[in-house]
Amino acid sequence: MPLRHDTEHASNAMSDIGVIAATARGRRAADRLAAAWPREVRVVAADSPAEALRSAFSGNTAVVSFLAVGATVRLLAPLLGDKHTDPPVVCVDESLEHAVAVLGGHHGANDLARRVSEVLGSRPVVTTASDTVAATPLDSYGADLGFRVAADAPLARAGAALLSGEPVRLEGTGDWPLPPLPDNAAADVAANDCAAVIRVTDRAGTVPDTPPTVTYHPPSLVVGVGAARGVAAEEVGALLDSALADSGLAPEAVRAVATLDLKADEEGILSAARERGWEVLTYPAHQLDSVEVPTPSETVREEVGTPSVAEAAALRAAAEAGSGAELVAAKRKSDNATAAVARLQPRGRLAVIGLGPGARDLTTPRAVAELQRASVVVGLDQYLEQVGDLLRPGTRVCSSGLGQEEERARSAVAEARSGAAVALIGSGDAGVYAMASPALDFAGPDIDVVGVPGVTAAAAASNLLGAPLGHDHVYISLSDLHTPWEAIERRVRAAADGDFTVCFYNPRSAKRDWQLPRALEILAEHRPADTPVGHVREVSRSDERATVTTLARMLDGGADAVDMLTVVVVGSSASRNVAGRIVTPRGYTWR
Ligand code: SAH
Repeated sequence: MPLRHDTEHASNAMSDIGVIAATARGRRAADRLAAAWPREVRVVAADSPAEALRSAFSGNTAVVSFLAVGATVRLLAPLLGDKHTDPPVVCVDESLEHAVAVLGGHHGANDLARRVSEVLGSRPVVTTASDTVAATPLDSYGADLGFRVAADAPLARAGAALLSGEPVRLEGTGDWPLPPLPDNAAADVAANDCAAVIRVTDRAGTVPDTPPTVTYHPPSLVVGVGAARGVAAEEVGALLDSALADSGLAPEAVRAVATLDLKADEEGILSAARERGWEVLTYPAHQLDSVEVPTPSETVREEVGTPSVAEAAALRAAAEAGSGAELVAAKRKSDNATAAVARLQPRGRLAVIGLGPGARDLTTPRAVAELQRASVVVGLDQYLEQVGDLLRPGTRVCSSGLGQEEERARSAVAEARSGAAVALIGSGDAGVYAMASPALDFAGPDIDVVGVPGVTAAAAASNLLGAPLGHDHVYISLSDLHTPWEAIERRVRAAADGDFTVCFYNPRSAKRDWQLPRALEILAEHRPADTPVGHVREVSRSDERATVTTLARMLDGGADAVDMLTVVVVGSSASRNVAGRIVTPRGYTWR
């Protein structure tokens, strides 16, 4: 007798995952999976698990087996065919500790093991060589941009096609700064030759059953409205609905209703918008009268101070939320209201990401999330290597060598300007002696910029040295490649005079070997010779080396151990060596 036979789903071709359980514990876990994914999971057997397993596998259904790996493999061995066509198989142990991707790792099992683990709290065990990072999940694709998945979208079928490397056609995805999809998904896959379609559109309409098509509605539309005092909500609502419907536009793609600020308390507009779940944005007449519209009206200008309300407000709000806007439904009228619809041109997205000083566990979870959110990653080859395993399948990588900073910054901004989701990466914090400044120098208001803070080399090094930054401190780069030495020396003097703890970046290279001793000399004129100094080379990396010494010893040859992979921290006159650690007290008397 079947443990649970959900006729609705069993008869539906979308039941994609067969769950096999033989024991009470296994059946309880199987029920949890069925409850979590009611549309996909079919719990297939109780009394003859072996038979159920074989029939699910032969029926080309993905399998989650609560039998041991050995038992599962023995049962399936005679049925094994080609790794490209066999369905994926995941085994979960009785105590739900491990979800092992046993067969078809690249064919969906790795991903299934991860999904199972999310529900059961187990650990996914993935043994395939590459592709340890899952592809961008379709159920949250574009969610942070406000995308809505159209009702009844065949997410499971499209997801399976995507993961198994079948051709998937992309429509309308190029305009939005979306995360990457594996390379088998592309805009040039022919409509009649694809296993699934992923479509981004603000247009309404039904989708054919084949190929399975997942439609996302992006929040690209703004409905502008104007109305006479006291207009009824029903009249406004009917006008908004027909403005969309007559132009074939999807209400799910509306991000807001826009109007004149004089109408901010117009109940008919407010409640029509509220009923549809749309925000209301209002603009003063002087912000609308400069918007170019196809049908301006002198009468309207005389009444409210702008020749257009509906069209101008729609265009204005859409342009504000994007990098440009166009009218897609010209003004229409009812007795007491007007409406028009504008579509925005989406803005690209540039994430400037600090990866931290080197160690993976000093890369923040947000940095990882943003890396996986980007479809294009730009950076120095050495950093790209450092994070290559984190990138989602389909990510485009633009690497360059040292010294091509400006070119890197320009190309990252250009990619974002073309609409992509770009990550520009750097070590430590990307805003500290790094790529954020040149990139933001080129970036205009037509792209969104997100900065992801990183652990700086100074923060990592000072934690290793003790607590040298416990009171006021300054950072000084000793590189005089782009800054004249006089300017650097002036700052070193100011820091010496101010008795700041000083953290030197770019302290010394083969060609620049006198600057650090010179800077230390200046500091030594203002603080004791036994002032503690720490330097850390390759902090948080495998060759990490931290040294605590004194200003006197640094001046007596100690600076020779310093190179460009080092940060140097010179204590203030109040800093002390306590048990081999540098401590700068929180409060002290000025001397
Ligand atoms: N954005 C980085 C700094 C880049 S400038 C940050 O926030 O830390 C390059 C300089 O940073 C190097 O010359 C060195 O002084 C320092 N640096 C970067 N990574 C380091 C590391 N792992 N160990 C020690 N110093 C490091």
